[in-house]
Amino acid sequence: MLRKVSPEKRAILKDLVAERRIHVARDALTAAHPQVREHFGNSLKRVEESAVSKLCVFPTALLRLMRDHPRACVSVVAEMPEVRRPGGYFRELTEAKVASWGLRLATGALEEEVTHLLDHLLGSNGEGGNLSEGNGATEALAEVGRELLALYEDKANKYSEYGDRNPREFLAQWVRAYLTAEHEFLWETALEMYTWLRDKWFSDTFWREVLQ
Ligand SMILES: [Zn+2]
Repeated sequence: MLRKVSPEKRAILKDLVAERRIHVARDALTAAHPQVREHFGNSLKRVEESAVSKLCVFPTALLRLMRDHPRACVSVVAEMPEVRRPGGYFRELTEAKVASWGLRLATGALEEEVTHLLDHLLGSNGEGGNLSEGNGATEALAEVGRELLALYEDKANKYSEYGDRNPREFLAQWVRAYLTAEHEFLWETALEMYTWLRDKWFSDTFWREVLQ
């Protein structure tokens, strides 16, 4: 599953699993719908592999930022506290959480919550505001944050009503769309935001420069 992933990214993901910061709850399948359990062959290992493979879409530099943070984590549980929600981001814990059925059925759900987590780390090391709100943990990041906030404020970049609610959802919904929707449709919707995601958010080279 991780064959095409660079050794560096693979090592970071391995660290996160070893430190249980990519973590599957023991009852993630036993308490889930039988179809979900069946999909994962009743194997928690396969749930973990699914989460890890979804994380691979993020640039290595962003995954390293997550690994180097003391608490940031991703977990798969049987059900969210608010039932029927596929996932959520818990700011006070810097935890991206997804239900096992969400991992299976809600395309891009885990990636959305991880985007909220990364947005928080980039904005303030998970201690204050998010990058998308115009913040930055460093001056170089604050510059990126201001650029991203300006993209949100320009209504030409609107993607959905949900994404229009606030800058955090704007970024998360766009990232999710980038990973799940037709790119042709996305660049026709908002070429500027599409280009920003392609050349910045999903560019390891970009983040290596900004985070150095
Ligand atoms: Zn969200």
